[in-house]
Amino acid sequence: GENALTAATVDALADQSMPLCMQQLHQGLKRDHKLKHQGRLQFGLFLKGAGMSLEEHTLFFQREFTRIMTSEQFNKSYSYSIRHMHGKEGKRASYTPYNCMKIIFGNPPQSGVEHHGCPYKHFDDQNLSALLTKLKIGSVADRDVIMSHKKDGNFQLACAKHFEVSHPSATSVDGVNLDGVGNHPNAWFSASVSYHN
Ligand code: SF4
Repeated sequence: GENALTAATVDALADQSMPLCMQQLHQGLKRDHKLKHQGRLQFGLFLKGAGMSLEEHTLFFQREFTRIMTSEQFNKSYSYSIRHMHGKEGKRASYTPYNCMKIIFGNPPQSGVEHHGCPYKHFDDQNLSALLTKLKIGSVADRDVIMSHKKDGNFQLACAKHFEVSHPSATSVDGVNLDGVGNHPNAWFSASVSYHN
């Protein structure tokens, strides 16, 4: 369908429908033309969970990575692990997309170098506040609510509030399943995509 997640649609869908964690990874990939291991896993498994095929996932990463390396280097160092994520190599068991708890309690990202993690948890107050303002998320009052959840350690409530203020009246839109928004990045994404349909 028109909302299929492909190398051609991922940029628009990132802006429209990805939660902050995945927007950060997307931006990091576009800016650095690579992602560190943890980021490739967190973002790659999310993309797979959101319906991106192995072929489109490879195409998207190849397009970015080959801005700073040859196709041979990309194929040698990164293709296999992408195939692995899609269950085409090795064992499949551990390759399910990460939920919020796993992301929040996982290894924190090295600042400025790694882009994985949850911004609500891993950004300090000042950086998170600046990001929310830059992205024009909700009103000043909405952003205050999000920041107070963050300061209370309620990172997932902060994220659910981000969804709420950026998808007005979502509860009354047919076909939008809000279960899992604030618990799983893929739930956030699919609710947002169906909201915008
Ligand atoms: Fe991502 Fe979950 Fe954090 Fe939201 S709460 S930014 S979906 S990890």
